[in-house]
Amino acid sequence: MIDCTLKNKVLNEVDAKMKKNWIEKKAEDVTVPPNLMDYQKVYQSFQWDSVSKQFEGLPSTGLNIAHEAIDRHANGLLAGKTALVWLGENGERRTYTFLEMKKLSAQFANVLISLGISKGERVFTLSTRLPELYIAALGTLKNRSVLCPLFSQFGPEPILQRLVRGDAKALLTTKALFEKKIRPLLEELPQLRYVFLIDVEEDESEQIRSLSCLMKNASDVFDILPTDPEDMAVLHFTSGTTGMPKGVVHVHKAIYTHWMSGHYVLDLHPDDIYWCTADPGWVTGTSYGIITPWLHGVTNIVDEAEFDATRWYRILQDERVTVWYTAPTAIRRLMRLNSNPLEEYNLSSLRLIQSVGEPLNPEAVIWGMEKLKLPIHDNWWQTETGGIMIANLISQQIRPGSMGRPLPGIEAGIVMHNDDGSVTEITEPNKEGELALRPGWPSMFRAYLHNEEKYANSFVGGWYLSGDLAYKDEDGYFWFVGRADDIIKTSGHMVGPFEVESTLMEHPAVAEAGVIGKPDPLIGQIVKAFVSLKTGFEPTEELRRELIGFGRKRLGTAVAPKEIEFQQSLPKTRSGKIMRRLLKAREMGLPEGDTSTLED
Ligand code: ATP
Ligand code: MG
Repeated sequence: MIDCTLKNKVLNEVDAKMKKNWIEKKAEDVTVPPNLMDYQKVYQSFQWDSVSKQFEGLPSTGLNIAHEAIDRHANGLLAGKTALVWLGENGERRTYTFLEMKKLSAQFANVLISLGISKGERVFTLSTRLPELYIAALGTLKNRSVLCPLFSQFGPEPILQRLVRGDAKALLTTKALFEKKIRPLLEELPQLRYVFLIDVEEDESEQIRSLSCLMKNASDVFDILPTDPEDMAVLHFTSGTTGMPKGVVHVHKAIYTHWMSGHYVLDLHPDDIYWCTADPGWVTGTSYGIITPWLHGVTNIVDEAEFDATRWYRILQDERVTVWYTAPTAIRRLMRLNSNPLEEYNLSSLRLIQSVGEPLNPEAVIWGMEKLKLPIHDNWWQTETGGIMIANLISQQIRPGSMGRPLPGIEAGIVMHNDDGSVTEITEPNKEGELALRPGWPSMFRAYLHNEEKYANSFVGGWYLSGDLAYKDEDGYFWFVGRADDIIKTSGHMVGPFEVESTLMEHPAVAEAGVIGKPDPLIGQIVKAFVSLKTGFEPTEELRRELIGFGRKRLGTAVAPKEIEFQQSLPKTRSGKIMRRLLKAREMGLPEGDTSTLED
């Protein structure tokens, strides 16, 4: 079990300061009545069965994501409502109603059928965030084929690996991406029957087809065949932060979790304008960039372009975004600019900001309060969990630095590993251990692709083990400590990198920090921090010394970084997570391992 004496000591010392930062919610803070007012009451009485009432079910029997997200709205009062607002990289703006999305996705489903792509077969996408990507995603689900979205900036090798491992039968992509990344691989992909090119007008061959030609000849009526809620729907690869990305299998029934978390965490209401900044190449961009807003019949913004501070503030302003789901890496990039967005932009429509993907430093929550007049709500989940599991809620107190509390229907615990391989729940508060969930929530992954053993090993003693370390406070708020792989053992203490990184970020010069344990013969590991600076600060020896002193004062000598190295920017996954394993490998001159998801 992990030694917690140090943690508790630090906690007591900073307790008063932390509590001072807790953010209470008042009636005047919310502009619409939140879907969840009384956390305890809802948590205690919640039944998953109650969510089934939110769905219509297929006329042909069963449950299909695309029917619940699009068709049932298109068949009813929301037919003419805008489902998708698409913002092109070059300033173009297109909108699609629920009825249009129904018809277009029906056409794509008919294309698949006409080419003999059937239930359970894998349809991959490799495209920037174009409308066709969203249409194809829905059409694939309608056809009961399996959707596997890839990030368009992957290089050829990671693409090849995933197409082979995922047994791709069809791939939707653009001409440019095809020429650069796919054509050279075709000989190695004998199972790939079709490539659909979004932006060419004519078929090249039986295999390389023009999407628009195929769509032109396809009917816009498609009756979804019976779909078992347990049928495989989506295949997603993990971010590769800790090692080789894993293929994770999800089923149609996952929409129970999506609907529930859209209701309680994203607090979706019919008039919301919702923007999730994630790419569907990561699970957030699919679960919450495609499925969840449409399950709620909400208008969904999709921006084709990559991060750009000015562009993002403009989108929030011009599209009158009300609910914004983004990630710590983006928030830190906004913070780095040292600007005052409210002086330049009218963000008065914005009422809720949620964040996921990495620990959200308390400093970022506070920044939101100061600069956007809204706190940023952290929530926790994984590709494996399929949907949000732990969250800060719009109506509830926020404890900056905490991931929040488990959602209704989700039982989370902290467990310790025993020598005999079993696990025991730690019920005492403020003790670190592995974050675990009781299996059985609807969006729980059903397999690791081609790795039954790894899947089986993720479940021990009636828990799903997340691989993350955390602790739970007296009031049931969960606090992230670090990934099990990233924990640092120094002079007999266990140090979680998140705590050290967050402290460094409190210094006005620090934009980002990544902390590792560097092997040391005397004390096991030395805490070493890699730091990138905010605009306007220089990486001088004086600043380095100042930061070391700053760390010591706040964290104590045992936990504070002994070494600090400045870097222009830290290595991150394309989904924006700091890759500590890479910082460590580079520090030690070791092989870098799988870098398929490393940002350029
Ligand atoms: P891989 O499993 O391939 O190493 P990954 O774990 O980064 O990659 P994802 O499933 O995309 O792949 O990310 C889930 C992980 O992200 C969580 O296990 C956790 O470590 C981290 N994470 C997500 N949200 C939060 C959060 N709010 N606070 C802290 N960590 C978070
Ligand atoms: Mg993981």
